[in-house]
Amino acid sequence: MNTTLRTAATTSDSPDAASAAYASAAYASAADASADAPGTTAAQARGAELEELIRRNPRRFRVLTGDRPTGRLHLGHYFGTLHNRVRLQGLGAEMFVIIADYQVLTDRDVADDLTGHVEELVLDYLAIGVDPSRSTIFTHSAVPALNQLLLPFLSLVSVGELHRNPTVKEEIAHSRQSSVSGLMFTYPVHQAADILFCKADLVPVGRDQLPHLEITRTIARRFNDRYSGDGPLFPEPEALLSPAPLLLGTDGTKMSKSRGNAIALAADADETARLIKGAKTDSRRHITYDPAGRPEVSSLLLLAALCQDRTPQQVADDIGPAGAAALKRTVTEAVNEYLAPIRSRRVQLAQDRSHLRRTLREGNERARAVADATLTEVRAAMNSHY
Ligand code: ATP
Ligand code: MG
Repeated sequence: MNTTLRTAATTSDSPDAASAAYASAAYASAADASADAPGTTAAQARGAELEELIRRNPRRFRVLTGDRPTGRLHLGHYFGTLHNRVRLQGLGAEMFVIIADYQVLTDRDVADDLTGHVEELVLDYLAIGVDPSRSTIFTHSAVPALNQLLLPFLSLVSVGELHRNPTVKEEIAHSRQSSVSGLMFTYPVHQAADILFCKADLVPVGRDQLPHLEITRTIARRFNDRYSGDGPLFPEPEALLSPAPLLLGTDGTKMSKSRGNAIALAADADETARLIKGAKTDSRRHITYDPAGRPEVSSLLLLAALCQDRTPQQVADDIGPAGAAALKRTVTEAVNEYLAPIRSRRVQLAQDRSHLRRTLREGNERARAVADATLTEVRAAMNSHY
């Protein structure tokens, strides 16, 4: 069995082997049906080149990525982006992890139990292996200079560009709000500030984030063209997709904290079994890996494959005529076995809440220093340094 992915997820050593395994897995997934969203095929093709650059010199990368504190992290996060974060951290890339607390308000009136959700996120990060001595974990709202970048950045995009964003359209369709807030339309620009405040050049994300990355790249380019005569102030960051750029939830749509279709990393083994048992499949008995024709079955196969370091095709071949019930048993066992050490670490870490708050305080302090320095440069470039 190829154990490199597993090892990288928990201990982050064996960088070369892990990189190579992940690179080839990402490359293989370029043939998936998941390569049908705008920009996905290009991002996956570029992924193979990026993996080669990472393999050669991981330390040259500065990585920013993050999550909304809207609930516990799930398997879509894990295989879409978290695994890549821990891997890049282990390889020595500089890592910033943002808890996007202002963006909670994009699709709800009030951020309920925000403090609780933020702490749960920090717990998830620490449990999967994000190491605060090597990675900066911080919240939006604690870094004023980051948020100030939103103003000049908003001037660099048109209303038409904001309206065209397919991810924002999809999120509006799933939102429970009766009207759409200005924050919903502008949050991709806010994300540009999240990424550019620390001049990140690599962003490990799921597929839904590709349109936002494109806006960030546009903003960086336009800012540089308009204001930085002495060479570019901002890099044009690139998305790093994983082999699971869009893991489906139990209802067959994108696994998402807000849709009630997620399997949380922190769920216990019984809850996991119950959720997977209820997952949508299709009416064909023989299990085959066919992402375009059988998205729900294929996403379950991919999930088992990622947990067991096999290919989805191998998992499908093993199950074949045994049908959906056998598939679900395989997935349940694979997920529960894979997550067991993460879950027990999480239980231990949860006993010391003050450690979580201290981690965040220190991360916020580091992020503030970086953001202040960038804002100073931005104001100088814009001639607004008085
Ligand atoms: P919410 O429903 O509150 O928006 P979410 O589940 O969509 O939550 P986010 O915090 O919006 O999670 O996303 C954080 C990161 O996880 C992003 O990089 C996103 O692309 C990635 N991600 C989220 N869901 C999935 C998924 N199902 N498959 C792959 N990546 C995912
Ligand atoms: Mg989301």
